[in-house]
Amino acid sequence: MPRKLEESRRLRERAEQLIPGGVSSPVRAFKAVECEAPFIVRGQGSRTWDADGNEYLDYVGSWGSLILGHAEPNTIEAILSAAVNGTSFGASTPSETELAELVTQAFPHIQKVRFVSSGTEATMSAIRLARAYTKRKYVIKFEGCYHGHADALLVKAGSGVVTLGIPGSAGVLEEVSQFTIALPFNDTEVLEQAFSKYRHQIACVIVEPVVGNMGCVPANGGYLANLRTITQREKTLLIFDEVMTGFRVAFGGAKELYGITPDLTTLGKIIGGGLPVGAYGGPAEIMNMVAPLGPMYQAGTLSGNPLAMAAGIAMVKQLRDKKSEIYSRLDSLSAKLVDGITAAAKEAGIPLSANRVGSMFTWFFHPGPVIDWASASKSDTTAFGRFFRAMLDSGIYLPPSQYEAAFLSAAHTDEDVQKTIDAAKGVLANAMAGASRG
Ligand SMILES: *Cc1c(COP(=O)(O)O)cnc(C)c1O
Repeated sequence: MPRKLEESRRLRERAEQLIPGGVSSPVRAFKAVECEAPFIVRGQGSRTWDADGNEYLDYVGSWGSLILGHAEPNTIEAILSAAVNGTSFGASTPSETELAELVTQAFPHIQKVRFVSSGTEATMSAIRLARAYTKRKYVIKFEGCYHGHADALLVKAGSGVVTLGIPGSAGVLEEVSQFTIALPFNDTEVLEQAFSKYRHQIACVIVEPVVGNMGCVPANGGYLANLRTITQREKTLLIFDEVMTGFRVAFGGAKELYGITPDLTTLGKIIGGGLPVGAYGGPAEIMNMVAPLGPMYQAGTLSGNPLAMAAGIAMVKQLRDKKSEIYSRLDSLSAKLVDGITAAAKEAGIPLSANRVGSMFTWFFHPGPVIDWASASKSDTTAFGRFFRAMLDSGIYLPPSQYEAAFLSAAHTDEDVQKTIDAAKGVLANAMAGASRG
């Protein structure tokens, strides 16, 4: 059943004249799924509405930020009451300390935290801090992990086992990316090789402890522990980029879920309650390197913005107060959804495998297992595109790329999930015909 798209189309044509690709972030253009992107005008709970009045069950949730759903009343109330007192001062406010306290309670290894305005700023600053602290140059990241768009981290790496940085974007200097080593995820052996090749030169290893940015790919049993052991032995800092996983896979993030403690942690998305926030933190000994206490400079006009802090506080407090109830329900409802659609694909004879950690998950059009970028990148993205478009036409809004995780929020109901499974059954049985069958 085709949707009305006239108004979105008109808005997009206007946007494309004024904004590159008509978007403020590339994935929103729906290029990977060859589809016209709706312009969203409203959200409430698990749903959004576009400019033509089409309703969607939303599994993007502002890329995982909205774990309590759209326009969550307590968060909106907190933003409104902060706003009437002024939107920004460029001076210290009590709310920063309050959110800092909530963050350090959830992540006890974080003794001090600095707020910034995006996840990109958080990881960029954490890398600078790791280099300042260790006085070393090299950074190890993993293929398929995304840590925002800072130059040093926009490196995908080519083939080969230990590949020196090849810029993943025009405009990134080789002189900058050459100090970024990109390795396959979930492979301890190549990590050891990199450490023996660059002995005493590696400042930090940065990792998404559950990868969300090549689709959802969890670490193998023991892999995060190996990362911890090796980095400790080499006096290299371990950075968990929990911009996506923090307050998502557990209240205390992947750190709590797996019981592995990194040196530095980056946060974003959920801690902003849907407003622009990022943060990086760790032990006082390292964080005291940050200006004005130490020589590592990092600043921001709107950092710690009172509206953003108010939204973050409202969100994190609710998660804390209803922790066991929220996270166990997110887990069981996500399991029902992921298993339901995987079973429907099996029924339809379509090779599909799923990865899920709590309420973040991906259906890969790939027989599985998907454990790293090499396996993820073999997915049938044409089949994914067909699935995505047919689901969107059924009112189900999935992430518009095979390589982005989907998210369930606490606002999603059992009926929402059942509706999604039923839609997928129809789509997989009919709309996929002729494509990617056994
Ligand atoms: C989203 C994300 C980022 C970047 O955050 P922005 O706020 O988009 O700059 C960094 N790391 C991870 C793991 C992310 O998911």
